[in-house]
Amino acid sequence: MNTDEARARVRAVTGPELLERLEHLDATRTRAPVDDRPPACAPDRGAAVDCDVALVGGGLSLLYAPVLAALGVRVHVFDRGRAGVTHREWNASDSELQSLVEMGVVTADELAGLIIARYREGFCRWHQGGTYPVTGVLDRSIDAGALLALVRRRAESLGVVFHDGWALTGHATGERSVALRFADAAGASCEVVARLMIDARGAGSPSATADLICPTVGGVFTGLAQGSAPDEIDPAVGEILVTTEGVEGGRQHIWEGFPGRPGETTVYLFYYDKRERVGDGSLVNLYARFFATLPRYKRGDAVLQRATFGYIPGWSRLSPAPRSPSPRIVLVGDAAARHSPLTYCGFGATLRSVRAASARVAAALAAETVALDPVVHDTDLHRGTGALAHMIASPPQTPSEAQALNGLLDAAFGTLHAMGDAAYGRLLRDEMSGGEFFRFLHATSRRRPEVYGWVFRVMGVAGVGRWGAGVMRGLWSKEATAR
Ligand SMILES: Cc1cc2nc3c(=O)[nH]c(=O)nc-3n(C[C@H](O)[C@H](O)[C@H](O)COP(=O)(O)OP(=O)(O)OC[C@H]3O[C@@H](n4cnc5c(N)ncnc54)[C@H](O)[C@@H]3O)c2cc1C
Repeated sequence: MNTDEARARVRAVTGPELLERLEHLDATRTRAPVDDRPPACAPDRGAAVDCDVALVGGGLSLLYAPVLAALGVRVHVFDRGRAGVTHREWNASDSELQSLVEMGVVTADELAGLIIARYREGFCRWHQGGTYPVTGVLDRSIDAGALLALVRRRAESLGVVFHDGWALTGHATGERSVALRFADAAGASCEVVARLMIDARGAGSPSATADLICPTVGGVFTGLAQGSAPDEIDPAVGEILVTTEGVEGGRQHIWEGFPGRPGETTVYLFYYDKRERVGDGSLVNLYARFFATLPRYKRGDAVLQRATFGYIPGWSRLSPAPRSPSPRIVLVGDAAARHSPLTYCGFGATLRSVRAASARVAAALAAETVALDPVVHDTDLHRGTGALAHMIASPPQTPSEAQALNGLLDAAFGTLHAMGDAAYGRLLRDEMSGGEFFRFLHATSRRRPEVYGWVFRVMGVAGVGRWGAGVMRGLWSKEATAR
């Protein structure tokens, strides 16, 4: 299938507005977004402010709006489209979802209504390798659109003001506030002064400089064959990571599939890559591959019901972190990229962050301080898993080694499975301790000693040194202190 056919197929399902979002995302890959139209001058010390917090981006991070508002913060939300609308489907583990209730964003009954599927288990399977089941990981699928619509209503009821259709184009920081310039699709512009801005523009933020990226396309399908064979979908099982071939076109493509409402299945195709390598049109190209190769993954008369797509940034911890350009701008979500660089689970990471990060923002506003960056949750485990993600993003390019990455991943997941369900789940939920992570690496390298040569080839001596130092500083030193 060529890219025009793929574009037409997506447009037929999503309509022009979502296709515009897809093409905007693709365009930002080669014409990196810049905030180059700042207001004429930065606000002076006594400038009147329009709001405490300007939340710029109303995707998943819209969750911050009701939580901040409940803390007494005056919040305005700006989005280049409509805030609270998403082109994603999310899954997470049950314990992560409970935080929505604990934060007061939804009631327990509302959460139960948002969960559209529960799985007995999930699994990872590598081409020509084994199948490795795990429980308690990404085992709940939620209605992402309904969640964000509910979050928007909750925010509005708490006095949050919404400005749909306004894109941020520039900012100028003053001593006590930040002036923001927005433009709409017709070319009109307006200026707003806020005490703080939260940059929730996701992969489209100019500050989203994380070194890895995961282009992801797919959608919700009906018509896929149900059953327990590898090319069928079992409604009680989530497929977390599955490959159906080796490296092709220089990339290791990976499938994910999880059932939703009765008869529906969400299917994604993605690959890990270096940010600078992913160019214009990557999502449309990936869609062309998706439609052409779906039968390798699942059989049936697949009918696309809703398209879901995006770029998810990932930070390997081997390069400088995404940083805010101003003390009055706070990065959250994909712009901050503090989620796992191995699983790219930005939804789960945001659920872990919103409550504490909102409290920190509210406290900083109350104390008139600004030293917040990074405000979102991070974990030392990412210093270790970042290098693994870096390696998956750099698969061997020679045809004779096309199966090598699958072989390594099969050894790694075989090791995790042998370590037991609890340890396996802890790695995927970002809860593994330093000592356990070292045992995992050690056992994997015993299964596949050639991994040492590969690590040095992909990361270089300096990269391995940086990784080792980061791991020792973070994971290992804390482990030693705890002992
Ligand atoms: C297809 C797909 C499936 C996923 N599935 C899962 C999953 O199952 N589990 C999981 O944990 N994670 C998942 N993720 C990751 C998760 O969706 C992201 O990590 C999360 O959405 C990031 O939230 P965010 O608020 O930072 O950005 P987003 O949710 O991407 O929202 C960004 C918002 O900013 C707006 N915007 C952009 N530029 C501007 C501008 N200049 N001015 C104003 N507004 C602007 C956009 O319109 C958009 O509304 C998935 C990602 C993709 C792409």
